[in-house]
Amino acid sequence: MKIVNRIDELRTMLTEEKANGKTIGFVPTMGYLHEGHLSLIHEARKENGIVVISIFVNPLQFGPDEDFDQYPRNIERDEALAREAGADYLFYPTVAEMYGERPTVTVKVHERTDCLCGKSRPGHFDGVATVLTKLFNIIGPARAYFGLKDAQQVAIVEGLIHDFNFPIELVGVEIKREEDGLALSSRNVNLTSDERAEAVHISRCLFKIKEAIDSGMTPEAAIAEGRGYLHSHTAGTIDYLEALSYPELKPITDVREAIIVAAAVQYSKVRLIDNVIIKTEQPRG
Ligand code: AMP
Repeated sequence: MKIVNRIDELRTMLTEEKANGKTIGFVPTMGYLHEGHLSLIHEARKENGIVVISIFVNPLQFGPDEDFDQYPRNIERDEALAREAGADYLFYPTVAEMYGERPTVTVKVHERTDCLCGKSRPGHFDGVATVLTKLFNIIGPARAYFGLKDAQQVAIVEGLIHDFNFPIELVGVEIKREEDGLALSSRNVNLTSDERAEAVHISRCLFKIKEAIDSGMTPEAAIAEGRGYLHSHTAGTIDYLEALSYPELKPITDVREAIIVAAAVQYSKVRLIDNVIIKTEQPRG
């Protein structure tokens, strides 16, 4: 695996790979890799000649009071994990390499941002779309791999790829969980042990809501029950617990459409997110 810090170097290397007929699968991350990230590398490995992973904690997608400084980082460990998982290139640029003094142009997302994380983290998805536009242009992948853990991100990236005409296939990959159901996240290491014990109830709550909706309860009623469950099982602050259509992220009008049930809970140092997507052709509610 080659580790590259410079944009021009990576471009030169990947241009040569493409000239040799290799297709590129791209896995963008912020590092502190876990099995969720590795599953994206494994998927990319199956479908492409070359796998590029980027590790970049993107300042543009963090708000002023968010955890940019506390975000866990460990590049030596990440290098070993990415190599073992089968990545060919690890792109690890500095903030200065990506943005210079400061960006002069950024991307603004207009749809699918007025709810969930878009509502709680103003500007977050603009930062995501800006860095991805740059990374897509630098790397020129045939396919890009994103985890459904960040389902709103997947929905927004779908819009970015479509609207900016990137010739890239978006591949959404299932959520990897701890044995007790907690969604894997780099941020989990910043939970206290009490918070870690409580955090299991986020996924349990989402699964209960899914079960209730699957057995005919209306999404509103199921969410109300779920909210009660979450309140009584965690001291974390519920930022949101919502059911919306997916990937449109609009209020549910047709009970047969795909639904996302998503939650965000704020703990002392960490805000955790999780979701389940319910797809059925059966009438509900
Ligand atoms: P991050 O490093 O948190 O920005 O995540 C990089 C990519 O890994 C994103 O596409 C995430 O959705 C994905 N990812 C993070 N956690 C998980 C997980 N538990 N299961 C599957 N994919 C994940």
